[in-house]
Amino acid sequence: MEQQTNIIQIKQCPVCRNTSFKPYLKTQDYFLTQEPFTIDQCEKCSFIFTNPIPSKSELPKYYDSPDYLSHTVRGWSITGSIYKALRNLNIRNKYKIVQHYKKIGKFLDIGSGTGELLNYFNQKGWETVGIEPNEKARNYAIDSYNINVFDESKLDDLQEDGFDVISLWHVLEHVYDLDERMKQIQKLGKKDSYVVIAVPNIESPDAQKYKDKWAALDIPRHLYHFSKGSIQTLLGRYNMELVKMYPMRLDAFYVSLLSEKYLNKKIPAIPAFFSGIQSNLKAGKENNYSSMIFVAKQI
Ligand SMILES: [Zn+2]
Repeated sequence: MEQQTNIIQIKQCPVCRNTSFKPYLKTQDYFLTQEPFTIDQCEKCSFIFTNPIPSKSELPKYYDSPDYLSHTVRGWSITGSIYKALRNLNIRNKYKIVQHYKKIGKFLDIGSGTGELLNYFNQKGWETVGIEPNEKARNYAIDSYNINVFDESKLDDLQEDGFDVISLWHVLEHVYDLDERMKQIQKLGKKDSYVVIAVPNIESPDAQKYKDKWAALDIPRHLYHFSKGSIQTLLGRYNMELVKMYPMRLDAFYVSLLSEKYLNKKIPAIPAFFSGIQSNLKAGKENNYSSMIFVAKQI
C-alpha cells in the first residue's frame, strides 16, 4: 500500500484505547479544501472521531482562511456590530456560568482567541492566563488588553495545581493530542477546581438532520465529535466528574446557516432560522443541544 506521510491513521480510540472501529460517516471539508474525509466510531466506547487525520505539520493548512480566525473587527459595520453585541452577550453568559461554581480565583482559558473573555475575567478581579496557538490572535490579545497569553508550549511550565477554573470553549475538538491535553488540565487544576468544556454535540437534532453536511463536523479541523456520553467517559478517565450541562442555543442557528450554505440553498438564512428553532425545541426534551457546555469538577 502506498505510504502517505501527510495522513495519519488512528489505530487506538483517543478516549478508551480500544483498537476496533466501525465507519460512522463519509464527508468532506466543505469549509475550505473540499477534500474527502471519513469519521469512525469506536466499537467499545462509541466515541466518534475523524480518521484518518492530517499529520500535525499538515493541519495548519486547513486553518488557512481569513474566515476561520476569531474576528478582530476594528472598523464599524453592521455585521461587525451584531457580532460584537453577540460576543459581549456570550462573554457575560460564560462568566455567569462560572460564577455558579467559583466567585473569584485563578482562571486559565485554553484557546483564548483574541482575549475578550480573559479581559472580562481580569476586570472582575480574577487572575488570568490564556493559551492561544494562533500568533496573530495572541498578539492582538496582549496588545489590546495587556493580559498574559502564551502559546501551547507554556502549558508544561504553568504552576501545578494553580488554577480554580480552566475553560476550553470550542477548543477540545481541535486538540491534536487529546490525552496529553487532558493530563495537562488535570495537573494544572487545583483539587475541587472546575473545568468548563464547550463542544459541538454530534447527537443534536441539527447534526441528525444535516448528517454529512452538518457544519459542526468541520473536518479535518474537528478531530473529535463529542456527545454527552463520550464527554462523560473522557472526563472520568482523568478524574473529572460532570457537574452540569448547559445549552448553547445560538450555535444551532449559526451551524444551520453554514449547513444550509453547504446544501447550496439560495437564501440559506431562511431555512437556517427555522432549523435553529426546530433544533432547540427538539433538543430541550433530552438536553441535546447543537453545542453544549459541560462543567466538571476535578476530584
Ligand atoms: Zn473508545
